[in-house]
Amino acid sequence: SDVLLEVDNLHVSFTTHGGVVKAVRGVSFTLSKGETLAIVGESGCGKSVTARSMTRLLPEHSSKISQGSIRYKGRELTILSEKQLRELRGSEISMIFQDAMTALNPTISIGEQIIEGIIRHQKISRAEARKQATEMLGLVGISNPEMRLKQYLHEFSGGMRQRIMIAIAAVCKPSVLIADEPTTALDVTIQAQIIELFKMLQKKTGVSIIIITHDLGVVANMADRVNVMYAGKVVEAGTVDELFHNPQHPYTKGLLASMPRLDTDKSLPLTPIAGTPPDLFAPPQGCAFAARCHYAMEVCGLYQPPQSAVSGSHSVACWLQDPRSQFVFQPPMKSN
Ligand code: SF4
Ligand code: MG
Repeated sequence: SDVLLEVDNLHVSFTTHGGVVKAVRGVSFTLSKGETLAIVGESGCGKSVTARSMTRLLPEHSSKISQGSIRYKGRELTILSEKQLRELRGSEISMIFQDAMTALNPTISIGEQIIEGIIRHQKISRAEARKQATEMLGLVGISNPEMRLKQYLHEFSGGMRQRIMIAIAAVCKPSVLIADEPTTALDVTIQAQIIELFKMLQKKTGVSIIIITHDLGVVANMADRVNVMYAGKVVEAGTVDELFHNPQHPYTKGLLASMPRLDTDKSLPLTPIAGTPPDLFAPPQGCAFAARCHYAMEVCGLYQPPQSAVSGSHSVACWLQDPRSQFVFQPPMKSN
C-alpha cells in the first residue's frame, strides 16, 4: 500500500521531579508516500514529542512510550534496539530541527558532517561520499559547493545553515523527513525559500514530510493534511482545505482566527485564544480545552469527547459534533 507510517494510539510520558507528565495521550495518524502532513498546535501540545517518538529521539531515561504502536513499512518501531534505531535514523526517517547551531557540530567542517552521515549508512568510498555531499549541497541551493564543504557552520547565514541541515537529512535518501519548526528562527523571505526547497525535494525524490509547526501560514503553503494537537491529543484532522475552510473544533477555529491575514496589506493584531493549556501532570477528566472553550457544556467537563467523522478524511474530537452529548449528562434537579 501507499501508507509508510502508521501511528496508533501513541502515549508518551515523562518522569520529572514534579511527577509524570502525560505529553502524548493517544495519538493516531498515517503518512503516505509523497505526502506532507503538518502537525500544528501551541508549544507544549505534544507535537515535537510525537515527532521525536518516530525515531525515539527522546530522553532515554526520563521518557517512555507507554502505549501504542508506530509501524514503518509494516515494521514495529517501538520495540527496536538503539542500534536498530541508529540504522533507521537518517537512512529511512530523518529529522530536521529548528536550530542548526545546536543540531550540528560547529567544530567540524560541514563537508565532514555530511560525509560522515553518508558513510554511516552506505558502504561507499570517501571519494564517492564526497561526490554525493557536493551534489546534495548544490541541490539545496548552496553555490560553489566544492569549496563550501570545507567551511564551518558559523561561516553560513541562518538560511544557509538550514539548507545544510536539510542536505544532511536528505543525503541518504530517506523515505520520511520530519522537520520540527524548521523555519521558525528565520525571517519571512528566507522562510518562503526553505518551504520552496522542501517542495522541490519532495517533487524530485518523492519523500514524505511531517512538518511540526505553530505557523498556519507554513501549513497552508506546504501541507496536504493537518493534525491539530491540543494537550497531547489530536483534536481535529483533515486535509488543508477542510481545516482552513470548514474547521469544526473550537480550538482550530481559534487558531485560524489568530492567524495573521495574508490577503490584506494591513497586518492585523493577533487574536490569541485566551487562557492556557491544562497541566499535563493531571490532565482534566473531560475535554482538555473546556476551560478555554466558549461552547463548553456540562458533558465536556465530565467525559473526553469521542472522535466524530466529518468526512472520510476529516475528523474531530468535540462533543458539539456528537448527538449523544445531550443524553450523556442529565442536569440535577434544582433543590432549594
Ligand atoms: Fe468545547 Fe466541549 Fe468541544 Fe471541548 S468538547 S471543544 S469543551 S464544545
Ligand atoms: Mg517544539
